[in-house]
Amino acid sequence: MKFIAGNWKMNGSRAALQTMIDALRDVDTKNTVVLCVPYTMLGADAGRAALGAQDVSMHHHGAFTGEVSAEMLRDVNAKYVIVGHSERRQYHGETNDMVREKAAAAIAAGITPIICVGETMDEKQAGKTMAIIESGVRESVPENVDAPIVIAYEPRWAIGAGLTPTADEIAAAHTLIADTLKSMGLAGTPVLYGASVKGNNAAEIMSIPNVDGVLVGGASLKPDDFIPIITSVK
Ligand code: PEP
Repeated sequence: MKFIAGNWKMNGSRAALQTMIDALRDVDTKNTVVLCVPYTMLGADAGRAALGAQDVSMHHHGAFTGEVSAEMLRDVNAKYVIVGHSERRQYHGETNDMVREKAAAAIAAGITPIICVGETMDEKQAGKTMAIIESGVRESVPENVDAPIVIAYEPRWAIGAGLTPTADEIAAAHTLIADTLKSMGLAGTPVLYGASVKGNNAAEIMSIPNVDGVLVGGASLKPDDFIPIITSVK
């Protein structure tokens, strides 16, 4: 069984989400399916999928205009939240320390964080990929986690670019993440691959050792693109 999550980013509408939910109802799969949608679309009856958010405040309540707390996400029945997506790190200056606090806030509210880590093109070219991935996991995962979490490895240079690392590169990254999680007492934590996953490469990517599923951006917006990814593995 694989874990397939969509990240709608700032796209879609409640009507588009309903179309997706309706299309997913008849999909024959045992895979876990999660749709991480804009805040305004949470609260829908997601049928056989679960809904998640794409960010959460590290604060619980108070004078933080525009922020949404983990308790508020739980109030609209969100089950997951992406934290530390590369676009949050790039455009909002989010650091591993901030991501860790957001993940902790989610866990405290009973929401499963999908914690993203990955290297930029500059870091890759400087030979720092493995170091960035390992420190990303060690620093972005809260201490003494006693609830489910999910990690997503997303090479930042490949997101939305139609680029993917080689199978060997993905395998090396996922093995490192699995080993790192094990050393932190978190063996068995699902590790997703994300960046330019499509219907024509999803099965191959999910056959790589230690790849427990995928985080899908652009190809999660339309049923015709997303469903083939979900059904590409049993
Ligand atoms: C993402 O934004 O998390 C992502 C994986 O995007 P894409 O699939 O479009 O590369």
